[in-house]
Amino acid sequence: MSDDWNKATRAVHGGARRSQYGEVSEAIFLTQGFVYDSAEAAEARFIQAGDDEFIYARYGNPTVRIFEERMALLEGAEDGFATASGMAAVNGVLSAMLKAGDHVVSARALFGSCLYVLEDVLSRFGVEVTFVDGTDLDQWQAALRPDTRAVFFETVSNPTLEVIDIAAVSELAHTVGAVVVVDNVFSTPVFSDAIAQGADVVVYSATKHIDGQGRTLGGVILGTREFIRKTVEPYMKHTGGSMSPFTAWVMLKGLETLSLRVNAQADNATALTETLQGHPALARVIYPGHASHGQFDLCQRQMGRGGTVLSIDLSGGKPAAFAFLNGLKIGKISNNLGDAKTIVTHPATTTHQRLSEDQRADLGITDGLVRISCGIEDTDDLVGDVMQALEGA
Ligand SMILES: *Cc1c(COP(=O)(O)O)cnc(C)c1O
Repeated sequence: MSDDWNKATRAVHGGARRSQYGEVSEAIFLTQGFVYDSAEAAEARFIQAGDDEFIYARYGNPTVRIFEERMALLEGAEDGFATASGMAAVNGVLSAMLKAGDHVVSARALFGSCLYVLEDVLSRFGVEVTFVDGTDLDQWQAALRPDTRAVFFETVSNPTLEVIDIAAVSELAHTVGAVVVVDNVFSTPVFSDAIAQGADVVVYSATKHIDGQGRTLGGVILGTREFIRKTVEPYMKHTGGSMSPFTAWVMLKGLETLSLRVNAQADNATALTETLQGHPALARVIYPGHASHGQFDLCQRQMGRGGTVLSIDLSGGKPAAFAFLNGLKIGKISNNLGDAKTIVTHPATTTHQRLSEDQRADLGITDGLVRISCGIEDTDDLVGDVMQALEGA
């Protein structure tokens, strides 16, 4: 590994560990445990395991370790801990670092399960959470207190694609000594520079772009070596949220093509946004990588590109949105995102169905809103499919 490698190179070669056979493709060490040469060797490893020494797969595994190191290199973090899912990462990092009496400030626009962890789980254990509009720096400033231990947000937010200013929020949070945790799924590791911009901890659902082909659930927590090894690892290794070696291997295969896929997906999102400008069936087209987005400059500064997802708001409300979804031939109706296949979602009736009408209105989730996670299909085919489905809507 060379320090001056760019992301695309790191994603292919970072963290490589080869066995005595010199395999090209990373080996799957599908083993729960490890054999020691002697009783003394076992004792020594339990006192202090070396870099290439493992004890039990819940604690660590060679294939999982390659994934963790590759992700840390990609994100510019010192270290990482891989988890069974994105939610195991979110719940894990917060549970590992918080205790009763702590205060957390979080952006309100959150993935449903993240909202559950912050609103329902943490409060049961005596952690107080204040929710703010993540795009409003005055609200962050007002909510932060001397006992604020962590701030949490997703950028770009789902599904209304608002960009939260990592550098500005981190600067505010650090004035009270809070740890900045960013759920960075929508930025993807390819466009993220969150640690350099001030975030302390970055979490990913690897289920999304990192696998990117709809196969496995996974996640990762990235941060300083001290934080990962002293705070995250003890909690994760004893509570069971670790990533399986097979999953790590699938994710490593995903990382090899991540940069190609994510850039192709962003190309499709850009082309689609361009074509849809001024379309008579649409009240809004939202893509942070397009000049029509209110935070275009921030997005350029923070991510360089607008990511792989756009949202459209059909003026005809739910009937028009459903007709559009049902009329697509290439785009698949599902609730995942970041996949090589284009996936369309109607948040109001699926991912955000549990929210009240008022809560949805607060978040800008109208009945006509459709989220489009662009895949890697041919651009003309994809644009053609969306245009013909809009005709019918
Ligand atoms: C999907 C997602 C998660 C949860 O990830 P899983 O792998 O499904 O557990 C968390 N945060 C965001 C922003 C997501 O998109």
